[in-house]
Amino acid sequence: MTSLLTPTPRLGFDPATKRFGQLIEGRLVDGATRVAVVDPGTAEQIAEAPAASSEQLDLAVAAARRALPAWSALDVGERGRVLHAVADVLAAHHEELAQLTTLEQGKPITQARDDVSWSIDFTRYFADYRLETEVLRDDDANRVELRRRPVGVVGAITPWNFPLFQALYKLAPALVVGNTMVLKPSPTTPLATLYFGELIRDVIPAGVFNIVGDGGDLGRRLTAHPGVDKVSFTGSTVTGRHVMAACAPTLKRLTLELGGNDAAVVLADADVEKTAEGLCTWAYSNAGQVCVSIKRIYVPSSMHEAMVEALSRRIAALTVGHGLDEQTQVGPVQNKVQYDKAREHLTVARRDGRIVAGGDALDRPGYYIAPTLVCDIDESSPLVAEETFAPIRSVLRYDDLDDAIARANATPYGLGASVWGTDIENAMDVAGRLEAGTTWINHHFQLTPDVPFGGIKQSGLGAEFGRTGVEEFTDVHVVNLKHT
Ligand code: NAD
Repeated sequence: MTSLLTPTPRLGFDPATKRFGQLIEGRLVDGATRVAVVDPGTAEQIAEAPAASSEQLDLAVAAARRALPAWSALDVGERGRVLHAVADVLAAHHEELAQLTTLEQGKPITQARDDVSWSIDFTRYFADYRLETEVLRDDDANRVELRRRPVGVVGAITPWNFPLFQALYKLAPALVVGNTMVLKPSPTTPLATLYFGELIRDVIPAGVFNIVGDGGDLGRRLTAHPGVDKVSFTGSTVTGRHVMAACAPTLKRLTLELGGNDAAVVLADADVEKTAEGLCTWAYSNAGQVCVSIKRIYVPSSMHEAMVEALSRRIAALTVGHGLDEQTQVGPVQNKVQYDKAREHLTVARRDGRIVAGGDALDRPGYYIAPTLVCDIDESSPLVAEETFAPIRSVLRYDDLDDAIARANATPYGLGASVWGTDIENAMDVAGRLEAGTTWINHHFQLTPDVPFGGIKQSGLGAEFGRTGVEEFTDVHVVNLKHT
């Protein structure tokens, strides 16, 4: 289904005339240049965003460095109070931030509201998080404590699929343990992050949190900057390799959350309709632009026809339209580069497989791709073998479960995976054999702040969330007392 509505965003300002500023040492600062920001739902420019010069990046890093001693010396309870105040601001501007996210990112407004809600929940969770000192040994000879200290200035880089949420889930754990931060949003989705910076400029002490705008090559400069101690990066595997190389000369600490090619393995005892519902939700959410989207669906041959029918029926019923239309379930893809790639994927799908749902770009302004399902496709096709960051998914048959598991694992990626079935013991066993940072059973893509999330193989390095994630924003400090 297609909706042609393009509602006006409900904002307290006109983005076309607003001067979005960078946040540097508590002040809103114009960019050295400005970049156009486009609404992917219309392909029209909606605003201009500031882009930092090298000198402005230096100023932001220097501000974060200056703010570090006082911020890290504060009582953790005080830092937590600041983060709760940040969450209060998010809550007070919930709808506006959601509208702005949809306008620049394209996702359905219902999903953008979730982004803001998750940002609030994660911020509050980390505001209350405490890393306690561990006593490793306490005997007649020694007392040995394992303490954690902040790494220092964190350079955070976010992509364009969950811009605000990604900013907050880096900011909150980093700041609560005493770091300061310079954050760089993606050049195609800077607005909600910059507006957030404007809203909290009097809430977070000056210099503790800074935002710099990107005209295109700021990520390279931020990751190589000698004043940055740690990089927290979310983006593609290709860029992740560059980031790792840029961090090497100064041995920066590094967390990489990268791409994925998640497999869903449907077991022979799965309920077809229930499973199709779950698969459809987590394959096409955010127009397929989620690192842990379900991208490959392995189905027993005996169930293939029924599953393809159940999926196609649901896909055909999805409402595609502008994200600000409340009825929309699938919005446009985020940018022109991604749209052109998606259209190439459709050509490959037609060449290498059989399209059973969707199959075309929509004939209207904006970057719309009809949710598409492909079957009878060889796994060596780039559509299956590579990460497809668009609403185009494939169903793959299997006759032997061991073979399905081997094929699901035959990828350089290892981000997420899922298993679908009714015999839970069997599903748990299959889950244990899938190579992924997270394997969900009978669902996919549940992120919560208390559970670590990260990729194995070329999907990343380290993890975010939970104790593991918080510890990645710290260095180990052993204090060893010898009793005399
Ligand atoms: P991208 O790698 O092109 O860009 C990500 C960010 O890196 C952007 O802010 C970009 O400006 C910046 N960047 C570009 N070149 C850089 C360089 N040389 N050095 C430092 N920074 C640089 O990715 P994208 O297209 O914005 O996002 C989509 C990708 O992100 C997908 O592959 C997706 O799977 C991945 N992703 C992963 C996760 C995860 O948690 N694992 C979450 C969301 C997205």
